[in-house]
Amino acid sequence: MAEQYWQKELETAPRAEIEALQLKRLKETVEREYAKVPIYRERMDSTGVRPEDIKTLDDIRRLPFTVKQDLRDTYPYGMFAVDMKDVVRLHASSGTTGKQIVVGYTANDLSVWANLIARQLTAAGIGKDDFMQVAFGYGLFTGGLGLHDGAQLVGTTVIPISTGNTARQLTVLKDFGATAICCTPSYAMYLAESAEAAGIVGDLKLRAGIFGAEPWTEEMRRQIEAKLHIKAYDIYGLTEVMGPGVSYECSCQKGMHVNEDHFIVEIIDPDTCEPVPDGEYGEIVYTSLTKEAFPVIRYRTRDIGMITREPCACGRTFARMSKPRGRTDDMLIIRGVNVFPSQIETVLINLGYAPNYQIIVDRVNNLDTFEVRVEISDENFDDSVAALAAREKKITEAMRSLLGIGPKITLVNPRSIARSEGKAKRVIDLRKLTD
Ligand code: ADP
Ligand code: ZN
Repeated sequence: MAEQYWQKELETAPRAEIEALQLKRLKETVEREYAKVPIYRERMDSTGVRPEDIKTLDDIRRLPFTVKQDLRDTYPYGMFAVDMKDVVRLHASSGTTGKQIVVGYTANDLSVWANLIARQLTAAGIGKDDFMQVAFGYGLFTGGLGLHDGAQLVGTTVIPISTGNTARQLTVLKDFGATAICCTPSYAMYLAESAEAAGIVGDLKLRAGIFGAEPWTEEMRRQIEAKLHIKAYDIYGLTEVMGPGVSYECSCQKGMHVNEDHFIVEIIDPDTCEPVPDGEYGEIVYTSLTKEAFPVIRYRTRDIGMITREPCACGRTFARMSKPRGRTDDMLIIRGVNVFPSQIETVLINLGYAPNYQIIVDRVNNLDTFEVRVEISDENFDDSVAALAAREKKITEAMRSLLGIGPKITLVNPRSIARSEGKAKRVIDLRKLTD
């Protein structure tokens, strides 16, 4: 492994050492934020907590939370902690939920970010000999440039293709001999299907994929791996906290290691805001420890996940975060039952369908309706109406036994559900239009 990006001593350090480093950096960052960011100072003043009150890591709980609305209220630059002349790049959230927000980076922030991506690529065995096709969007979205800088740092031959134009993506994958690719998992699935349809999977040199920016299940991972003959690694991050690379998967694929030298992760109960024990699901909260331009204190991500601090088989001792199940705002409440799109995906893949589906929820006469449109593939295409009805019923029953509520299933033609080059749109909640 490329020595400089595999910091063995640090990444496998005893927990006490990691926590000592975190405490030191937490004190420094809180002091800086108190001095430089009015909203942090006002909040701390109003709850009577001073930077010098942070004496142990648990004292982080005395600090106020930050939420997306704070970024909107201070839009555009009200939460920046440095002079704008030191900000060398801006990014903005992709605006999946509401008005966009903007964040910034100093040169040092960009260097830390690239190093963290380099750390992940190194852990995935991607380096100088590789050709990395960056099929995340370039632009204000953090995915493209984030992965780009890290891939360049480890010395891969970067192919900065960005999103879109699937036929061209396939040509480039094949002709340029890409050995690694990064994009959203739903787009990876689409590329895999398209490569199969074009009969070129055997011509590809791909061996690894780095996928993230949206929730995906373990089942979907296995499908992508099988179709493209690669190993697929998960990567997590969000614009407000940095971008991709806040946490990443090692080759064990048993959760994403949080880059704890730069971030503190907490899991809280989203209703009470109290801490949730390791191993239990709750809302993921991040505090940045080294960011200069846009530091965050206890940022509530609205993502639902859990963490473990058990050492990993790879030797790393950094905490691991489960695949996020989705966001608190993606959770559908249908006739009083909590439903995550990822649960639907798991059932579909286990029954042999590709993860091409759309959930449609509406309210008719005060009663929620719940439909899932599922694409059939060319292989399991069947003209017989009776056979289709039997299949639909089988899926409904499998979902009922998992969720306690059985959606109406509608099987639809191959490739009839719109594909996205970025994040997939899984849910159409028509109730929101009428509420
Ligand atoms: P937006 O909030 O507009 O979508 P971002 O691009 O910053 O903007 O998206 C970050 C969000 O994407 C995270 O909060 C999380 O919900 C989702 N996400 C990112 N990586 C993953 C991942 N590996 N697994 C599941 N969800 C992810
Ligand atoms: Zn590991």
